[in-house]
Amino acid sequence: DTKRNLIIVSNRLPLSVKRVDGSFQSSISSGGLVTALSGLTKSTQFRWFGWPGLEVKDNEDRKDVCQSLEEHNASPVFLDSDLAHEHYNGFSNRILWPILHYQSGVTFDDGPWQAYKRVNELFADEICQAAENGTLIWIHDYHLMLLPELLRARLQKQGKSCAIGFSLHTPFPAGDFWRNLPVRKHLIDGLLASDLLGFHTDEYKQNFIDTCASLLGARTEIPNQIQYKNRLVCIDQFIVGIDPLKFTDTLQNPDVKDRIQTLEERYKGVRVIVGVDRLDHIKGLTQKLKGFDAFLDDHPELRNKVVLIQVAVPSREDVKEYQELETELSTLAGKINGKHATPEGTPLLYMHRSVPFTELAALYSIADACLLTSTRDGMNLVSFEYVACQEKRHGVLVLSEFAGAASFMREGSICFHPANKTEMSEALYAALHLDKDERRRKYEYLRDFVHKHTSARWGQTFIEKLNSRACNSTRPC
Ligand code: UDP
Repeated sequence: DTKRNLIIVSNRLPLSVKRVDGSFQSSISSGGLVTALSGLTKSTQFRWFGWPGLEVKDNEDRKDVCQSLEEHNASPVFLDSDLAHEHYNGFSNRILWPILHYQSGVTFDDGPWQAYKRVNELFADEICQAAENGTLIWIHDYHLMLLPELLRARLQKQGKSCAIGFSLHTPFPAGDFWRNLPVRKHLIDGLLASDLLGFHTDEYKQNFIDTCASLLGARTEIPNQIQYKNRLVCIDQFIVGIDPLKFTDTLQNPDVKDRIQTLEERYKGVRVIVGVDRLDHIKGLTQKLKGFDAFLDDHPELRNKVVLIQVAVPSREDVKEYQELETELSTLAGKINGKHATPEGTPLLYMHRSVPFTELAALYSIADACLLTSTRDGMNLVSFEYVACQEKRHGVLVLSEFAGAASFMREGSICFHPANKTEMSEALYAALHLDKDERRRKYEYLRDFVHKHTSARWGQTFIEKLNSRACNSTRPC
């Protein structure tokens, strides 16, 4: 039987590598992409490339790391700490990420850009060695935008023909915003060496196509394809999702059931709103806390009858802007509780830490509403996860119109503009007062969506399409 050969590339390997008694051990960490691929193992044999997350200089140690990764079919791209830091924090997270998410005030800096290029080259060097003629290569996310072009050049030199796919997990901004980036053309050139490019929504896809036309003069009159430098690039939207059964199964676990009961007793007579976000500017956490403050001001009758449990997962703590945001949020949380607390309790629980998976599922499950306030967000999978845990309660999703998920979930949720406190407060109030039938209708809409567009389906669809490009790269998309 001939299994397809597939290489997956992401900046970080989905594994954590640890030094134990002088040797190295790797353990798999779960994530959307890992689940998406697990269904493919029958038809496809794949190998994962990425940075292992630690610096390894010694050659013997490097061999050890390779060996420990081998049992997970993974291969490392080794990077020096300083280079990794400049690439990941300096360029990817401080320059590229904010521009992709429409944040202004970004200062371009050449040093981090050189590191970004260098890391993309190091990835290309490793992967072209491992690829064989006919291997499918699927690259992920904004850290590696130059990789398709660098890789294609190297593969060509070696006489290997491989289909290259790329998925962007962030928004792609409208043209004028992208112009803020002086190296914008290099990045687009890098991406256009792919055979297939995937975006989360039609809006991001169209923004990208428009940019290619105006910036490079690429031909884009045929839908879903871009003609550039005598090549045809297919562009499409692929709905990434979750594995909902992982959540419904967890909710059946006796310990989780106990935990749910405990929490339900604790919040008897209190409506619970949950929020789960990485601590990032794009999640609109400042807006969320201010909107909740306005909501409490607007509804004194709900005093002691409503609580917002906000999990803010620590993220990119090496970056100054993220440290400043944390300080701002904890101050704001203190002020809001100072203003609205009573001897009976506080209306806001702000948790700055990550929570274990089972606790997360229990939290989702006991909440009457989930409030997500992203100012921009590629997709937002928390919204999917909340839905997966609401089989019993039919809680309401209160969702920023700027989350990618809103372009699919509008009908099943209550959408609002996150910069408008009044709108947010009204949306929350409406969510907590929706009648039972309407709640059921919205819930069923979302449940059907989440169970249909799973991560497994996403992975399969992308690979099928990439494979068909490999078989016939001149056929229209
Ligand atoms: N999550 C996590 N640790 C936590 C709480 C949540 O890893 O303590 C997970 C959450 O379950 C979700 C992911 O983080 O799967 C966040 O994905 P999302 O698409 O919402 O946002 P991103 O962080 O990718 O911007």
